[in-house]
Amino acid sequence: KLASREFHPENTVIEIGDVRIGGGELVVMGGPCAVESAEQIDEIARLVKAAGGQVLRGGAFKPRTGPYSFQGVGVEGLIMMAEAGKKHGLLTITEVMTPEYVDICAEYADILQVGTRNMQNFDLLRKLGEIRKPVLLKRGFSATYDELLNAAEYILAGGNKDVMLCERGIRTFEGYTRNTLDLSAIPVLQQLSHLPVISDPSHGTGRRELVEPMTRASVAAGADGLIIEMHTDPDNSMTGDGVQSLFPDQFARLLRELEQLAPIL
Ligand code: PEP
Ligand code: MN
Repeated sequence: KLASREFHPENTVIEIGDVRIGGGELVVMGGPCAVESAEQIDEIARLVKAAGGQVLRGGAFKPRTGPYSFQGVGVEGLIMMAEAGKKHGLLTITEVMTPEYVDICAEYADILQVGTRNMQNFDLLRKLGEIRKPVLLKRGFSATYDELLNAAEYILAGGNKDVMLCERGIRTFEGYTRNTLDLSAIPVLQQLSHLPVISDPSHGTGRRELVEPMTRASVAAGADGLIIEMHTDPDNSMTGDGVQSLFPDQFARLLRELEQLAPIL
């Protein structure tokens, strides 16, 4: 299998501009759950950059559990985010939900995200195999490691070699946390595969006060990068994910801590 360590013993290093993912340096992607307005994404981009992050995250198309919830601002959001990224010197990552939107998302964003609910959307994965932009593939909330690696295989088989795997929490019997962040996924996926592994402690816990400790734990477990939600006004965010979003000062403090932690691990 193309995703396997057996097939490809060396780590895959994804280079985008001067950012290298999987090459030993920790990459931090930060930003809101959803792009809400040009002002919102510009201000958050400024804060992500100031804190030392490399990639701006934000959803323009949101895969909401219910059809009446805010669905994202769409293509306008892609444009707003691209402008904010360029202005502040950040790469951008955004979720794509359907094959029809892959080309336009790839035009505006540097990395395309496949959400947990779409991990086995095989038409989407095949289409992502045809483009030449890096993809961050989130683990389905009930998917095994093998199923995640097979989903990655669909993209790799199409010829797109730049795939990152993302642990974002799985569904367990525990209801206190939104999901259970499976820390074992980080070393297991790195042993089974050569692809970079990114941890998402925001969706992995669903609780702001757990994001900092689970970020540190992810780094200790060997994560190649992090994707963390941060919002300037989390209590009034347009998705329910404000409760798991860090305030800007918390985000900045966390990144300062990581700088000290990363070299000793
Ligand atoms: C997100 O990153 O905002 C998101 C919807 O993530 P997930 O697919 O992991 O729920
Ligand atoms: Mn979210």
